[in-house]
Amino acid sequence: RAASHSPTSAAIAHRDGTTFTYSNLLSSVASFRRQLISSLSSLSGSFDHGDEEPRIAYLCESAYVYVVVQWAIWSVGGIAVPLCTAHPVKEMRYTLRDSAAGLVVASPLFESKIREVLDDEEFKDRALLITPTFTPTSSVSAVTIEEDERIDENQRAMIIYTSGTTGSPKGGVSTHATIQSQITSLVHAWSYTPSDRILHVLPLHHIHGVVNALGCVLWAGGCVEFGAPSPESLWLRWSDQSKPKLTLFMAVPTIYTRLITHAHQAHPDLDTKAACASFRLMISGSAALPTPTKKAWYELSGGKILLERYGMTEIGMALSCLATEDAGGREDGSVGWALPGVEVRLVRKDGAGDGEEFVVRDDEYEVQGEIQIRGPNVFKEYFRRASATRKEFTTDNFFRTGDIALRRLIPSLPERGGAYFIQGRESVDIIKSGGYKISALEVEREILQAELPVGVREVAVVGIPDAEWGQRVAALLILPPSSPTITIKQLRDVLRKELAPYKLPTVLKVRSTDESGEGGIKRNQMGKVNKKEVLREEFLGEGG
Ligand code: ATP
Ligand code: MG
Repeated sequence: RAASHSPTSAAIAHRDGTTFTYSNLLSSVASFRRQLISSLSSLSGSFDHGDEEPRIAYLCESAYVYVVVQWAIWSVGGIAVPLCTAHPVKEMRYTLRDSAAGLVVASPLFESKIREVLDDEEFKDRALLITPTFTPTSSVSAVTIEEDERIDENQRAMIIYTSGTTGSPKGGVSTHATIQSQITSLVHAWSYTPSDRILHVLPLHHIHGVVNALGCVLWAGGCVEFGAPSPESLWLRWSDQSKPKLTLFMAVPTIYTRLITHAHQAHPDLDTKAACASFRLMISGSAALPTPTKKAWYELSGGKILLERYGMTEIGMALSCLATEDAGGREDGSVGWALPGVEVRLVRKDGAGDGEEFVVRDDEYEVQGEIQIRGPNVFKEYFRRASATRKEFTTDNFFRTGDIALRRLIPSLPERGGAYFIQGRESVDIIKSGGYKISALEVEREILQAELPVGVREVAVVGIPDAEWGQRVAALLILPPSSPTITIKQLRDVLRKELAPYKLPTVLKVRSTDESGEGGIKRNQMGKVNKKEVLREEFLGEGG
C-alpha cells in the first residue's frame, strides 16, 4: 500500500525535525527484512516455532525504528508482538512467555533493558537482534515488495495485549485482514487524506496507537510525527507556527485533562485557540471522557468538540461520533454510532446474568444491554487460549465485549438511529445493589459535573460487597491540594438532584493531591483506572 503513495512524501517525522519518506521506509524495511530472515534461520533447532508463524517481539521507542521493525516482521510472515516500553522486566517476561516469541528485536535505546529481560534461564533459547540505526538518506527509488513475498491476508499478523484492566492481559491475535478492515473503516469514517499530519503521543503496544493513530495515517499516505505526551511539550509544539501544520490529534481523556490544567497553571497567557487552530479532528478514547473536560476543551481550543469513540483490543474501533460537526453528532457522554462495516447489537440478559439473552430491536431506545460486535474488524483469537476465545463469542459469531451501553435517539439526528452511551464494564462498573443495576460511570459523570462545595479533580466509583444489599455504591474523590473536605451527606444532598436515590453513594473516601499533582488515582498508560485495585486498596484496606 505504501508503495503506491508518493515515494518522496513524508511518512514519519521525529521531534527534532528529521523526516523519513515512504521510499526511505520501504528501503529500510527491505534492508532490515534481510537481517530478520537470517536471524530466523539461525533460530531453528534451538527455538522451535513448530508450524506456527514465528512470533517476533520488539521493543522500540515511538520513532521511525518502530515502524521499520513492525513492517519488516510482517514482510517475513511473522506475528508482530510489540512490547510496552514502560513495562517493568516482570511484565515484559510475561508477554514473551505468553506469546512464546522466539526472536526479540530491540532498538539500540533499549539494548540494556532487553538484555536484562532475557537474562533468565527460561529465555535462553530466544535470539536477540539489536536493530541498526537507520539513516534517513537511504535510496529514494520506490521499492516494491516482490509478488512472491506477499503474505496471505488471513495469516496472523499481530498480538496486541489487552490493557489488563480486568485481569491478566490477554494476547489478542489479529490477521492482516482484521487490521486492514479496522483501518479502512476508520479511514472512511474520519476521512484521512495524504494531507493529514498527526501528532502521535500514544503507546505503540496498544490498538489506539497502532491502528488509529499510526496505521490509518500511513494507509492514507499522510505523515506521522512522533511527540511526547507531556502537556508542556504538546503546548510548545502546537504553539510553534514555524513547524509543519498538524491536522489530527488522538489521546486518552487524562491527557486532555492535564493539558487543560497545565495551560491554566503554567501558561495563563498562552493563545490556546491559535495553538489548536490547525486541527481538523481531536479525538478521545480508551476510557470515558468526562463532560467537564469536553466542555473545558471546547472553551480552551476555540470551539473544538472532542470526538469520542469506543473500541477495544479485540475489535478495533466499533462506535464513533461523527467526523462532521453536525449538531448532535458529538453528544456529551455518547460514543456515537456503528462504524462502516461493523455490526453492533445490544443484548439484554434475563435475571442475574446466566439467564436467557434477548437481542434488543434496533428501533428500541432508552434500553441498556451488552454491546456485541460482528464483522471483519473482530480479532481471530486470544493467543493459545482456545476456551477463553470460545467463551467470548455467541453461537451466531458476535463478540461479547463485556461493556454495557444505553441506546438513545438524538432528536436532531433521527435518521441515524440510536446513539450509544457507554455505562461501563459489566464486571466492574455495573454495581448491583438491592436489585438495581447502577452504572459507576454515570455516578462518576454526575459527581464531576455537580456543583459541590469543593472542586473535584478525579473520581472513581466502585461497588463494595455488602451482605444486605449485594453491593454498596462507594466513591473515591480526589480534591486539589489543601482543599476543604466534603462529607457524604453534602455529596448525597447535591447529587440527589441528578440521580435516583438508589444510585447515591453510601460510602465516601476523600483525598487531596499534593502541589505537584501526586496522590491522584492510579492509572495505567492508557489512562484507565483498575477498579478492582481501587476497591481492594482504597475500600477493603488490602495493601497498596
Ligand atoms: P482487559 O481486557 O485486559 O481487562 P481492557 O479491556 O482495558 O483490559 P483494552 O482493550 O485496551 O483493554 O480496552 C478496551 C476497553 O476500554 C473497552 O472494553 C471499554 O471498557 C473501554 N473503553 C474504550 N473506549 C471507551 C470510551 N470511549 N468510553 C468508555 N470506555 C471505553
Ligand atoms: Mg477488555
